[in-house]
Amino acid sequence: MSKPQQAGAVVVHGGAGASRENEDGCVLAARRALAQLEVSGEALDAAVAAVSALEDDGRFNAGSGSVLCLDGATVEMDASIMDTRGRLGAIACVQSVKNPVLLARAVADTPHWLLAGDGATRFARAIGMPESAPVSERQRADHRKIMTQLAGSVPAMPGLNIRLFDRFWNYNTPLNLPEGVACDTVGAVVRGADGHFAVACSTGGSAPSLLGRVGDTPIIGSGFYAGPEGAVAATGIGEHIVRHLLARTVYGWIGDGMPLDRALQRGIDLFAPEIKVGLIAVSRHDAGACSNSDMPYSKMVQR
Ligand code: ASP
Repeated sequence: MSKPQQAGAVVVHGGAGASRENEDGCVLAARRALAQLEVSGEALDAAVAAVSALEDDGRFNAGSGSVLCLDGATVEMDASIMDTRGRLGAIACVQSVKNPVLLARAVADTPHWLLAGDGATRFARAIGMPESAPVSERQRADHRKIMTQLAGSVPAMPGLNIRLFDRFWNYNTPLNLPEGVACDTVGAVVRGADGHFAVACSTGGSAPSLLGRVGDTPIIGSGFYAGPEGAVAATGIGEHIVRHLLARTVYGWIGDGMPLDRALQRGIDLFAPEIKVGLIAVSRHDAGACSNSDMPYSKMVQR
């Protein structure tokens, strides 16, 4: 396994579609991760600490701040973790869980790597995670904003045909189609001082979307990847990101010796400018973030 190369490093993001005004939440989460790194020395513990702080923040599209689905009631969340000690866990379409990233971490201790839907929710109850589904005024306001803002002819998501939502609608409530997009993910990548790497991500998904929709966040190699050369996390519309296996593709370039900043920029350049995408990464010698939007993020290095 990797030998110690560098001081520990943390990069945290709050989503490619999020507001830079909320960057203080990323700074706090990065501090939380560094503090955790001091205590346990474990890159994965630090990444999970950062992401659960962002899930609890309420301003980001993850955990307590997750977007409401188009029925205005359901929240479906995805999360993932991976590290260079072989731990890999993810959950998709889970409901009523306060910290999906902790659930993804728990999946890594089961015989499986990914649990979805009702099974994932039941797993949360089986390991003692209480039901938690408060909907904040902020979430309701965001939902109202999407629903009112978007009754027009603007494409709902760049590159996606909004009429298909109409055709395949699978909610119990009737379609009241918005024409806009709410997206975002939170993520953290960490390099431990022992040379290990970890990544953790969490999202409330995107809107508009069909019930049961899963993006890139819980999909290995698309939304997240960690290996002996580093760790990468992506944010942006999952339907686009998965087509490029974005996290693994960028990881591969870093592993081939491309400077980290160039690898991140090359990853972003795979997408048309109207498709908001963001990336964060740590490597043996570097750490950074890159986005074609005003993505809030924070980078911190251990002293
Ligand atoms: N990647 C997330 C998804 O598609 C959303 C985002 O990061 O903006 O679910």
